[in-house]
Amino acid sequence: MSQRTFSIIKPDAVRKGHTAAILAKIQEAGFKVVAIKRMSISKAQAEGFYYVHAERPFFPELTEFMSSGPIFPMVLEKENAIADLRKLMGATNPAQAEEGTIRKEFAASIGENAIHGSDAEETAAFEIGYFFAGIELK
Ligand code: ATP
Ligand code: MG
Repeated sequence: MSQRTFSIIKPDAVRKGHTAAILAKIQEAGFKVVAIKRMSISKAQAEGFYYVHAERPFFPELTEFMSSGPIFPMVLEKENAIADLRKLMGATNPAQAEEGTIRKEFAASIGENAIHGSDAEETAAFEIGYFFAGIELK
C-alpha cells in the first residue's frame, strides 16, 4: 500500500546547488513528488518543527541552521515511503552513511546533513501538516 512521508532539502544542500541532484536520486528511487516548494523559515518556525529535540544540546545550532537559508520541504509517496526514504538518506552522521546514500554524497557533517526525512507515521503526519495545507496535497 502506498504511503506518504515528509522530507526537507536542507539549507546546506540548497546553498551548494545540490537540490536537483537530490531530487533526481529521490525520483530514481521510485518516489512520486506529491508537493514541493521553496521557502525560508524563521528560527521560531524551526523550533516548532523540531520540538521533540528541544532539550537536546544541539537544538540551538540545529534551529539556527534550519533557518539560515532557503529550504525545499516536500511530500513524497511510494510503497514503504517512510523507511525507504530513511534508507536512501543514510545515517544522520554522514561519516557513517553508506555508499550511494544522499548523506554520503552530499552531507558535510552531522549538523549540516543535506536532508530530513520523517521517522514514523505519526511524525510524517505532523510534519506534512506543519508545512502543507490539505489543498496542496491532491
Ligand atoms: P532529521 O530529523 O533531520 O531527518 P535524523 O532523524 O537522522 O535527522 P535526528 O536524531 O532526528 O536525526 O536529529 C535531527 C537533526 O539534528 C539531525 O539531522 C542533525 O542535523 C541534528 N543533530 C543530531 N544530532 C546532532 C549532534 N550530535 N550534533 C549536531 N547536530 C545534531
Ligand atoms: Mg529525525
